[in-house]
Amino acid sequence: MAEKRDYYEVLGVDKNATPDDIKKAYRKKAIQYHPDKNPGDKEAEEKFKEAAEAYEVLSDPQKRQRYDQFGFAGMGGQGGFSTGGFSMEDIFSRFGDLFADAGFDFNGGHFSSFFGGNRGGRRVQRGSDLRVKVKLTLEEIATGVDKKIKVRKLVPCSHCNGSGSADGNDGETCPTCKGSGRVVHTQRGIFGMMQVQDACSTCHGEGKVIRNKCTYCGGEGVVRDEEIITIHIPAGVTGGMQIPVQGKGNAAPHGGVPGDLLVLVEEEEHKDLQREGNDLVYNLLLDMPTAILGGQVKIPTLQGDVKITITPGTQPGKVLRMRGKGLPVIDEYARQYGTGDLLINVGVYIPEHLDKNERELIAQLQKSPNIVPGSADKKNFFKNIFG
Ligand SMILES: [Zn+2]
Ligand SMILES: [Zn+2]
Repeated sequence: MAEKRDYYEVLGVDKNATPDDIKKAYRKKAIQYHPDKNPGDKEAEEKFKEAAEAYEVLSDPQKRQRYDQFGFAGMGGQGGFSTGGFSMEDIFSRFGDLFADAGFDFNGGHFSSFFGGNRGGRRVQRGSDLRVKVKLTLEEIATGVDKKIKVRKLVPCSHCNGSGSADGNDGETCPTCKGSGRVVHTQRGIFGMMQVQDACSTCHGEGKVIRNKCTYCGGEGVVRDEEIITIHIPAGVTGGMQIPVQGKGNAAPHGGVPGDLLVLVEEEEHKDLQREGNDLVYNLLLDMPTAILGGQVKIPTLQGDVKITITPGTQPGKVLRMRGKGLPVIDEYARQYGTGDLLINVGVYIPEHLDKNERELIAQLQKSPNIVPGSADKKNFFKNIFG
């Protein structure tokens, strides 16, 4: 597959483009590359699809935000994540209304007048997509994981092998369309009256009707069942990402093409660590003696606890950094090109309740010359914390 172009570049708008700019830009591209204007031109068709995909993302505020943040990975893009892409039919049915006043007939049902003619043959039905959520721990996100999930979905009927026919017969030729799957009528287009083909409503474009229906599935060829599906989750994913698994959605009637399974990633909260992009954050609260005298403390990481040395005189507000102890940084192809850090926010615990002995000890300290800060110490302290 060719390298994907940036969506903003595809539409020729900048990152701050308003929804209206985006709509206008898309409209312009779609008219330029419209199949009606470029009959048989494969490159125009690709450009037409590319623009539609860009528009689909940039016209949706949520998708646009995800794209801005994560690039194609946020879209369940390509490479490590498989991509569905758009069919011409999708484009006409989704964005058709945008072109109503441009003189184009974008009605989804009529797309076959552009391409159906030389493609010929009957339409194969496509199963619908399914959405599932998968909850991941930070440990799983750090390494990537194969998740087994149970999905309730339509599967091919085992009694008729998905044909829908009780006698194994493939079905009879549809009387309405005589097996072509299409019906032709005349309507006005930009070049005057034209012959338009629609999918036949009797057979839904399949060209066949089943007389002796399978009693198990009612002639649909599909039944509801459960399937255990193993999904590979690459390392470094983020909550909100969607990973498409091709062909694992609902089966289609009569042996058509199955839909996709869309896996939405959710993050489980970690008991000690918070995620900030590719970095992790740990809040470390030191007791006073350790902050003053230094010592060793245990820090939880996704790879297990590690001991670090606290240097004497460690100030509250200091941030320590453990390089490479964060999460994998991935590109839009889910390839790892680095690892985030673990940031340790240091606090110092000041006890509120002391017994008599402790109070005396602290009172003693107060008389000692190095305990009470001078003006230079004060300046340094706040400078170190607040810059
Ligand atoms: Zn059946
Ligand atoms: Zn028919």
